[in-house]
Amino acid sequence: MGVDATTMVPASEQVLADLVAYFDVDFAYLRHTDHEHRRTVLVAEWPRRPEPPEPDPLRVIEFDRADSLFRASEHAIEPIVVSRGDEYPDYQETIRRATGVASVVTAFVPLVSRGKATGVLGFVRRGDRAWTTRELNVLKAIAALFAQLQARVEAEDRLRYIASHDDLTGLANRRALLEYMEQRLAPGNPGPVATFFLDLDRLKALNDFLGHNAGDNFIRALSARLRENFEPDDMIARLGGDEFVIVLAKTIDPVAAELEANRIQELVGRRVSVGQESVSRGVSVGVALGVPGETTVSDVLRRADHALLSAKSGGGNGVAVFTDAMRLQFELQDDVEVNLRSAVSDGSMVLHYQPEVDLRTGRIVALEALVRWQHPTRGLLPPGAFVSVAEATNLAGELGRWVIRSACSQFADWRRRGLAANVVIRINVSPVQLVSADFVERIEDILRLFGIDGSSVCLEITEHVVVQDLVRTRLTLRGLKRMGVQIAIDDFGTGYSSLSHLKALPVDAVKIDRGFVQRLGDSNDDLAIVKSIIGLAGSFGLGVVGEGVETPMAARTLVGLGCYRAQGFLIARPMPAEEVEAQLREGRIPLDLDLPRAGRGVAPS
Ligand code: C2E
Ligand code: CA
Ligand code: CA
Repeated sequence: MGVDATTMVPASEQVLADLVAYFDVDFAYLRHTDHEHRRTVLVAEWPRRPEPPEPDPLRVIEFDRADSLFRASEHAIEPIVVSRGDEYPDYQETIRRATGVASVVTAFVPLVSRGKATGVLGFVRRGDRAWTTRELNVLKAIAALFAQLQARVEAEDRLRYIASHDDLTGLANRRALLEYMEQRLAPGNPGPVATFFLDLDRLKALNDFLGHNAGDNFIRALSARLRENFEPDDMIARLGGDEFVIVLAKTIDPVAAELEANRIQELVGRRVSVGQESVSRGVSVGVALGVPGETTVSDVLRRADHALLSAKSGGGNGVAVFTDAMRLQFELQDDVEVNLRSAVSDGSMVLHYQPEVDLRTGRIVALEALVRWQHPTRGLLPPGAFVSVAEATNLAGELGRWVIRSACSQFADWRRRGLAANVVIRINVSPVQLVSADFVERIEDILRLFGIDGSSVCLEITEHVVVQDLVRTRLTLRGLKRMGVQIAIDDFGTGYSSLSHLKALPVDAVKIDRGFVQRLGDSNDDLAIVKSIIGLAGSFGLGVVGEGVETPMAARTLVGLGCYRAQGFLIARPMPAEEVEAQLREGRIPLDLDLPRAGRGVAPS
């Protein structure tokens, strides 16, 4: 029988109609027994009642409140014939209320699947009628067929559910989302279609430091909360990891969409209990509005994703609606692509340097080289505006070589003039550079050229690179180690490093991502994470640097946790070489942190 859940009702009606005619009864019904919720639910009836009462007393009947006959259907597996007499008077009353007919006989034939009652077929006739054993046997056979059919439809529903839902959360999956959006954006449908792209901030850190179960439980709790706070016909999909997409069933304008995004943010930001802990994560939300017949599904998702990127660029926990301004931003990217190559060779790139100090003494212990682009028309561009473009267009190698060379040349110059004697130069390295075959030799050449000792140089690599190609990465890092070059893992806590990777790779230090450091002092989550990073680093014998120190509170907290090396706007901003030179001459940056005695005036580690 080619029947699925959607065709089950008309197909059943057809069969009921035939049976009504054949057995000469007035009314027949098919009900399904919902054991989980302990109720019986009307699937089909024939003839359909023209105006069933509202609410329909026959539609859903809870067993606990059912009349005696329907109550019997919870477990009965043999037919019951109800005649006009006074058995089941309450059932007669149910039928009277639903159909207006006062006195009926009913053949009540259970559907049985694997010995369990799964539903019931009822044949109702006004006045009187006798049922022969032969007739009841035929009905039992038909009921058995119905039972099989129902089991099959349920199994297929289950399969369909699995194919279109996310395992972990029971939300829709990517496939179901695309199908749904395709249909919403079909020409002629109402619009605009508001689409929200959600990305949890620093979820990885939860997984890494509280364990994967905690991360899963967090996602599950959050999904349930989203589901509870949206209409049943709104689409909520999880695309895996920490990415969710919500498409509202109703149409709204951009202003309302932004309000909605703020609501989502508030909703997601509330605390969630995960085992013993109560945690919260911020969320960034990108919003795009699709116009049916004009915007394609991939357009809408791409725009929402762009908006999300821009929402995240403010350090996370932001909301952004895709706008014309954003369109301009993407034009900038195109412009960057076109002009970047010549910029690297024509001297438009500059390096700024940001000092890193020992918080206890203010002594400068390192300088981080940060690249900028003096753009002919757009001013001084930060690396965020072009490094990723360089990486996507094969220019990362060229840009990276320029950075290493320039930083080493400047550093060597300072050293020659007696500055920066006990200072390390820190250089950021792109993933692409790290896996290029001759990387180690190039570094060796540069160090030799400028007479710099490997141990004065620290290369910073971001966490997710470290893991992507572990074998290759390890080879490169070993090569660097042989020259004494130090390796630090940048933005630690945002990527994928796990303890095993830290053990496997020759790493010297980790830099705690500024996202965790910034709010130290007012966020207990972040405190717990920073604490565990510092503990972790300690047990692997790694150095640890706090990035993004913006407040005395954050600095004091780091010192209290035993992390003395730090970098951040509180201490110094990145600045041009001439300016940093003045600070190198001083050797220290005075800080007024009001540290407790034990943390003050101790010799730097
Ligand atoms: P990063 O390596 O994490 O560098 C630190 C970034 O944080 C710098 O941004 C710096 O200006 C900023 N920062 C420092 N202290 C604070 C603070 O207290 N608060 C806040 N809010 N920010 C602070 P910048 O210079 O825009 O660089 C951004 C990123 O671009 C760098 O992040 C690094 O990943 C990348 N980058 C910079 N220079 C290079 C380079 O030469 N090569 C490569 N591949 N990437 C680079
Ligand atoms: Ca860095
Ligand atoms: Ca960093």
